[in-house]
Amino acid sequence: MSATTVNSLEFCRLAEQASGTTPVAEFVRLRADVHDASGELSWAFQGGRHSEGLPQLSLTVKGEVRLVCQRCLIPFTQQINAKSRLVLVTDEAQAEATEERLDDESIDVIVASTAMDLLALVEDEALLSLPLSPRHEVCPEGSEVVVDSKLESPFAILKKLK
Ligand SMILES: [Zn+2]
Repeated sequence: MSATTVNSLEFCRLAEQASGTTPVAEFVRLRADVHDASGELSWAFQGGRHSEGLPQLSLTVKGEVRLVCQRCLIPFTQQINAKSRLVLVTDEAQAEATEERLDDESIDVIVASTAMDLLALVEDEALLSLPLSPRHEVCPEGSEVVVDSKLESPFAILKKLK
C-alpha cells in the first residue's frame, strides 16, 4: 500500500493530514484531457468532521496544466486552484440519501474505503476544475483566430435529422 492510499474513515477520525506534489504525467485520466504532460499538482487533505458529525475530507488542489485554446488552437497554461469537501458514508444507498439530506452543492458524498486512493480524488478534482471551453483571455497576436461560429455544421444538423 502506498502512502497515498489511506483508510478514509480512520483518516477522518484521527484528523490526519496528507499532502504532496505529483507530476501531471502520473495522472492517466488527466493526461488524456490536457495538451501535454508538463506541470504538476500540489494537493493537501485534511481529515475531520462535517457539522452533522459525519466524517469529512477537505481537499485542495493547486497547480498548472497545459490546455489548447479553442479559439486559436495554441496551447496555454491553465491554473488549477480547487477546493472540495467530501463527506464519507458506508455504502451507495446511504450516499444518495445523505446527498439529498445535506442538500449542499459544495459537498460531495462518497463511499468510504479502507484503501482510498488519495491521488484518484486529486485527479477527479483536477478534471472537474478544467474549463469546458478552454481559451486564452487574450489570444496571442498573429495567431489565426478560428471563427467562433454559433452555427451548427451541416454534419451536426444531418445527424439530428436521422
Ligand atoms: Zn487563444
